[in-house]
Amino acid sequence: MIPPDLDTRTRQFGREVFARLDRQGLVMFTRSWLEDKLMGLGMHDPALKVQLFRFVDTLPYLKEPREVSRHLREYLGEASDQLPWWARWGTKLIPAGGFFGRILAWQARSNAQRMARKFIAGSNVTEAVDAVHAMRTRRLAFTIDLLGEATITEVEADHVQKQYLDLLHGLTSEVNAWPEEPSIDRDDRAPIPRVNVSVKLSALFSQFDPIDPAGTTRAVCRRLRPILTLAKRTGAFVNFDMEQHSFKDVTLHIFKEILTEPEFRDWPHVGIAIQAYLKDTEADLHALLDWAKNTRKCPVWVRLVKGAYWDYETVIAAQNGWPVPVFTQKWQSDANFEALTDFLLANVDWLLPAFGSHNIRSIAHAMATAERLKVPSRRFEFQMLYGMADPVKEAIQSLGYRVRIYTPYGQLLPGMAYLVRRLLENSSNDSFLRQGFAEGFSEEVLLMNPSSHAAVALSGEHEPPVNPSANGSPKPQRANAPRSGFQNEPLADFSVEANRTAMKAALTAVRAELGSTYPIIIDNRPYGVGKTLKSVNPSRSAELIGEVGAATVDAANAAVASALKAFDGWRDTSVADRAAFLRRVADRFRSRRFELAAWIVLETGKPWRESDADVAEAIDFCVYYAAEMEKLGTPQHRDVAGEDNRYFYEPRGVAVVISPWNFPLAILTGMATAALVAGNTVILKPAEQSGVIGAKLMSCLIEAGLPPGVANFLPGDGDEIGPTLVQHPDVALIAFTGSLKVALIINAQAAVVPPGQQFVKKVIAEMGGKNAIIVDADADLDEAVKGVVDSAFGYGGQKCSAGSRAIVLDGIYDQFLARLVEATKSLTVCAAEEPGCSLGPVIDGESRDRILKFIETGKREARLAHHTDLGALAEQGFFVGPTIFSDVPENASIAQDEIFGPVLSVIRAKDLDDALRIANGTRYALTGGCYSRSPVHLEQVKRRFRVGNLYINRKCTGALVDRQPFGGFKLSGIGSKAGGPDYLLQFLLPRTVTENQMRRGFAPETGVGE
Ligand SMILES: Cc1cc2nc3c(=O)[nH]c(=O)nc-3n(C[C@H](O)[C@H](O)[C@H](O)COP(=O)(O)OP(=O)(O)OC[C@H]3O[C@@H](n4cnc5c(N)ncnc54)[C@H](O)[C@@H]3O)c2cc1C
Repeated sequence: MIPPDLDTRTRQFGREVFARLDRQGLVMFTRSWLEDKLMGLGMHDPALKVQLFRFVDTLPYLKEPREVSRHLREYLGEASDQLPWWARWGTKLIPAGGFFGRILAWQARSNAQRMARKFIAGSNVTEAVDAVHAMRTRRLAFTIDLLGEATITEVEADHVQKQYLDLLHGLTSEVNAWPEEPSIDRDDRAPIPRVNVSVKLSALFSQFDPIDPAGTTRAVCRRLRPILTLAKRTGAFVNFDMEQHSFKDVTLHIFKEILTEPEFRDWPHVGIAIQAYLKDTEADLHALLDWAKNTRKCPVWVRLVKGAYWDYETVIAAQNGWPVPVFTQKWQSDANFEALTDFLLANVDWLLPAFGSHNIRSIAHAMATAERLKVPSRRFEFQMLYGMADPVKEAIQSLGYRVRIYTPYGQLLPGMAYLVRRLLENSSNDSFLRQGFAEGFSEEVLLMNPSSHAAVALSGEHEPPVNPSANGSPKPQRANAPRSGFQNEPLADFSVEANRTAMKAALTAVRAELGSTYPIIIDNRPYGVGKTLKSVNPSRSAELIGEVGAATVDAANAAVASALKAFDGWRDTSVADRAAFLRRVADRFRSRRFELAAWIVLETGKPWRESDADVAEAIDFCVYYAAEMEKLGTPQHRDVAGEDNRYFYEPRGVAVVISPWNFPLAILTGMATAALVAGNTVILKPAEQSGVIGAKLMSCLIEAGLPPGVANFLPGDGDEIGPTLVQHPDVALIAFTGSLKVALIINAQAAVVPPGQQFVKKVIAEMGGKNAIIVDADADLDEAVKGVVDSAFGYGGQKCSAGSRAIVLDGIYDQFLARLVEATKSLTVCAAEEPGCSLGPVIDGESRDRILKFIETGKREARLAHHTDLGALAEQGFFVGPTIFSDVPENASIAQDEIFGPVLSVIRAKDLDDALRIANGTRYALTGGCYSRSPVHLEQVKRRFRVGNLYINRKCTGALVDRQPFGGFKLSGIGSKAGGPDYLLQFLLPRTVTENQMRRGFAPETGVGE
């Protein structure tokens, strides 16, 4: 609670600032056509604003005037419902090409450039020096920020480091020679560095990932250390910017680690940005204070900001089902900013504050608090962004405070993302600048104590409007998107330390259990066969994971007999009880979450995140199919007078579930629980390579109360027991996921009706894919390269959804390929249990040899663009270095056959039609993707790229139950999508019962069935 006198003084300061500035024409709501449209029209129309900003973002990629016109027309066309009549009319007049087209393109570009220049000080060091010199004449200090593309390759990370070193060299020699300007070159005690640079740590390591704080810290520090050494030597200041929430802890960790090193420990000219919109910032500041005071024993600066990623944080949290890390009401961020201001000013001896805000209330509060605590006005400083709120800067400076300008410089292309962020921020409904200078809110309202919003909200008088999106972009959950009621199990957030610790502990615990033997289980009892299959860790092939009973034909027959015996009872168990059983299985998975993930890591060489996702998906299948079966379990009535008609489902009988090793828990669970909840009894046949995880599933089923015989665990060699199971006259259904070859054999064998079999078997098969991602000429390369790398090399390309073909349009082909190769080189190939692993081993020696053979074929068919050399890893486990072939002919075998390994074919396409033809030109139709920023192209792709799961502007793997039901057609699958509304129907037989209710001319009322 702010004391009344402090609040009064805050308002006085605020009014003083207002008195010194002209609120007319402030900020950037000015002249030019594009800006007027963006800021004026767009500001009141979020959908249109999004379209206009998307256009600006794409603009630098558009080389031809024709392309500029086309994109403008397409973007405005998409928002045409929201456009006023004159703008709709104007859209039609946008010239496609010719002289007027060229003029339009030139105008659009130069307007965007001019707009960017408002926020970006220059495109090279010389221009940046000119800009800071101009600011200096206005007695404004600076901090320079280097704009850049996302760092997705190690070459780019090296380049960023070099740019910082060059910048420090270039700036310090120049700036330190300028005459002193005491108002900005000194604080109240001594000179302070004139040169001040801001660094984003994620730019210094391409694999920056909070899942691996130690590896990330090592790699970042390696590049950061020379920058800090040079800064210290040349008397410059370095500030660490803060990025998204998931990076916060590792950023703080690096800050503390490196600044405790002997070389930097007594160096006071360093700082870090801290975001007040985060709920956990107060605790972070306390920890930072403790560290500065008691460990480092030397002060650091803290740049207090509200935070620039509000929309991102809320969307990511909603998408993943994670807690929202930011406050969701603007006043809460403002109030927290004030509370943290108080904390900083109270601890100014250790945490020197720089207040980064354009909000006059926030600024005035800092002034009033400093005055109250008697902190000299030059001991701290205010910071603002280049190109924003210039009169506010001057007003504050004229009151005797030091103002530092955050000054980005860099090329226009990477700068556009920064520009769009600034435009979004400025035009957001809640923005102080917009409210103060475009909407003309009164000074009293603008200077209101943020906590008074809380008081109003608590009294229930007036709930401050919850702004769905600070920047006015569409909310992730749209009003018109019906929800199924199903919620995906949230993935573990490995930026959270507790989750990393739990995973490490689980790996240790599981390691202690390696080497055990897991029997076949029939009737819930071990069934001894004597023979076993050995399962080894693909990351370390000498490490035995366990031995699993290897079923014989006799065991297979015993399993079928047991399942058949249990069938009647399970069929007649109520749907509610069967669904409850699945939910109990889900609970078992939840309670053994990290343990199961650890088994997956060790037995199948899957990295942490993907192993955890495997368990989460298994949980999803249980919960989703339970709910779906409850829907199907209610009979449908079509009664008429005197006649009751009941339509209902019953199970088919004994189901054999044959699953692959690549989703060892999820797919086995998905197929088995679908069969079980539908009332079938099941034989679980896991892949030979993942039998231990199959045994873990079986133990979860038993723990959840599985009646004997309802599911039997039958690991073994597919060649030995497969035909017995598939051809058995008592087996009604086979659910299979695996290769096309085996699926076709199963399908053929199942089609034969042996003597004694009184039905035709049902086969559900999910097979392979040769999935393509189209990269359009206007694609965002940061996103496209990363998306293709993730799709192609995630889990070593061993997913049927993996993207194994990149079909790239001519205009962007060379640029894309160069970055793709560098990004692939930058991947960390290592054992899957290492948290920083981007690419682990392939499943076994046979698989490795087959993939290597394909690579040899590829060398004959195309150009080898990259193949990562494995060094000693090659001996340690079943590793294959990620491999890229370029200029691959569309009909080459590496472009047509499923390789199931880390091999990517890059194919050149003339235009979108060509790309679509190539993309559709295989016998598979499973997943596909497209990166494009052309709304019209995307519409065409959605219509014409004929695959089961199509992903636009994201990777083509990682389907979620219910959100993206998964499965394909052509030779990719027989049956309907797993995790979708039609899946269970395949495990059921529909029946109709008609009862004549008429007896001697008398009938009860209709519709009385249950
Ligand atoms: C010098 C400088 C350096 C900066 N460095 C960083 C940095 O390293 N990292 C970083 O993230 N940002 C940084 N920023 C950006 C800064 O976070 C934004 O400029 C700031 O959010 C704008 O705040 P304001 O006080 O000027 O404006 P205001 O208009 O008072 O505040 C806007 C802010 O409020 C928050 N907000 C909006 N809607 C809501 C809502 N519904 N619920 C809760 N909160 C909401 C958002 O954070 C939004 O940005 C920096 C800014 C400056 C001036």
